[in-house]
Amino acid sequence: MRKLLSILMLLAMMVSNWYHNVMKLLYNWYIVQAGAIDPEARKPLFDDKLMGQLIRFVSSHEVGHTLGLCHNFGSSNTVPVEKLRDKAWVEANGHTSSIMDYARFNYVAQPEDNISYAGIFPRIGIYDEWGIDWGYPWLPQYNTPEAEEPYLNKWIIEKLKEDKRYTFGTETD
Ligand SMILES: [Zn+2]
Repeated sequence: MRKLLSILMLLAMMVSNWYHNVMKLLYNWYIVQAGAIDPEARKPLFDDKLMGQLIRFVSSHEVGHTLGLCHNFGSSNTVPVEKLRDKAWVEANGHTSSIMDYARFNYVAQPEDNISYAGIFPRIGIYDEWGIDWGYPWLPQYNTPEAEEPYLNKWIIEKLKEDKRYTFGTETD
């Protein structure tokens, strides 16, 4: 699934535009939010490897929109605050379950936590993979979108029982 999502995002990137000053925005976000925990964030000019990762984060979010994903501001709410400093947990799960949140960087982490980029950067998460599964299902047994609705609604309820990180909450809720 992750491979398919990556391919879809790459294809969508090819038809997207890029605002020239996003790199300046990323620099400001990262130096403010990660300056305490990442010496690379304290440089007057970020190296290409770091800026590449920052661009990857923003472009993944934007490509998510092109695939039909809305902002999911509810996703970061599903992560307990104490987990943001739990190195093993946050590196495995991310500090938000969706790249479609505005969670930016894990600024709760402290230098002594030694949390790597995996626990600092937003990334495609459990919610995003589910969102694509839910949005692009193959359901040949139904003849119309309306006929699919009961099945799709039940699927959401089941996923939320399984893990609250499948929560969705956007600005219009
Ligand atoms: Zn957005």
